[in-house]
Amino acid sequence: MAAFDAGVAVIGLGAWGSAALWSLARRGVRAVGIERFTPGHAFGSSHGGTRMFRTACLEHPDLVPLAQRSARLWRELEAETGRRLFEPTGGVLIGPRDGHIVSGTLAAAREHALPVEVWDAGRLRRELPQHGELPDHHCGVWEPAAGLLRPEAAIRAALDAAAGAGAQVYPDTRVTGIEPVDGGVVVHTPTRDLRVEQAVVTAGPWLPALVPGLPLEAVRMPVTWFRAGDSRAADFALARLPVFIRELDDGQCVWGHGAEDDGLVKVGLEDSGGRFEVIDPDACDRSVRPEDWTLLADRLTTALPGLGALPSKAAVCMFTRSPDKQFLVGRPRGDRRLVIAGGCSGHGFKHATGVGEIVADLVTGKPPSCPAAFMDPDRFL
Ligand SMILES: Cc1cc2nc3c(=O)[nH]c(=O)nc-3n(C[C@H](O)[C@H](O)[C@H](O)COP(=O)(O)OP(=O)(O)OC[C@H]3O[C@@H](n4cnc5c(N)ncnc54)[C@H](O)[C@@H]3O)c2cc1C
Repeated sequence: MAAFDAGVAVIGLGAWGSAALWSLARRGVRAVGIERFTPGHAFGSSHGGTRMFRTACLEHPDLVPLAQRSARLWRELEAETGRRLFEPTGGVLIGPRDGHIVSGTLAAAREHALPVEVWDAGRLRRELPQHGELPDHHCGVWEPAAGLLRPEAAIRAALDAAAGAGAQVYPDTRVTGIEPVDGGVVVHTPTRDLRVEQAVVTAGPWLPALVPGLPLEAVRMPVTWFRAGDSRAADFALARLPVFIRELDDGQCVWGHGAEDDGLVKVGLEDSGGRFEVIDPDACDRSVRPEDWTLLADRLTTALPGLGALPSKAAVCMFTRSPDKQFLVGRPRGDRRLVIAGGCSGHGFKHATGVGEIVADLVTGKPPSCPAAFMDPDRFL
């Protein structure tokens, strides 16, 4: 049998793949990372300057330990690279008391005894006067551990740390196919084929193109930045407007955070009602259209009335949606040669370091550092 070129190939070096490569390399695994574009690019799921971090994850109770573990690993990555990747701002989840945002966040906090505070509408109006029209039946859950992560910088930091620990990184190299062979996998690229013992596929929206049969959809998601009027600019600075998700009475959820040095307040709408378009990731229209921001701008006139009527900046991103909106991390059909990590469903960045560690656990045959059964891809296969 031909010698292996490496122990593991990590295919796709976005948020999850870069973290997986770092985790593998620091354990001494002989790993290569292969990325189709230049890492930190704006063609996948991990661009736009910031991502929200929370530990009171309403999306699944087992995401709380994963977020806690990820927070520790983000700090380790910061320490190892000397780069600042996390901005602790605290965060608030606002909505009707019985709405899914507030009740889900409180349920997660209660189950894991997280130190959150519940603010009634009066306190919300005093603490966060930028938020307009807060009816009395709305409240907020304040989570001091919340904050912002820097996606592009985090990916570069993880890759530099991985390379420092011995990983090889191949940027601008597209994997054209992965071929399971006896005892390993052959990874095909336009310039060479690599023979490895295991392949880790972290290709985000392109994951089904490399591992067929996964029930994942690529979803096009716009992001927008608005400027506050001059008289309100200080109120809309990040220090005064920490990260938030706000459920409105019509069911729409606005998320965002205050402005940093550029004066731009980042805001967006969640994918309620399946409004975002399911696309072929290779044919994603990255030009911004009016329908990408008009519904949001309409809601902002009452929800954040100090902001301008038109966005100052907009971008298009993608995320990968699974049928139950939970991640897929594991070995499809139990294949010992393959690990996948994908299906981020729009809430996966904060968990990248924790997911990367679970990938390394799977590759090295260790029990996962956090509960991972709920992410098993075989629930769909
Ligand atoms: C607008 C928006 C806002 C979000 N906000 C938040 C938030 O506040 N908090 C949060 O936790 N999450 C958030 N998310 C979700 C989060 O960004 C994603 O969960 C995360 O970025 C997913 O990372 P990934 O590594 O799976 O995918 P990606 O970052 O897309 O990485 C996949 C990589 O694989 C590469 N690749 C694909 N095919 C190949 C191939 N054939 N060969 C080589 N390389 C290949 C791609 O080029 C890409 O770099 C948001 C998502 C969007 C779109």
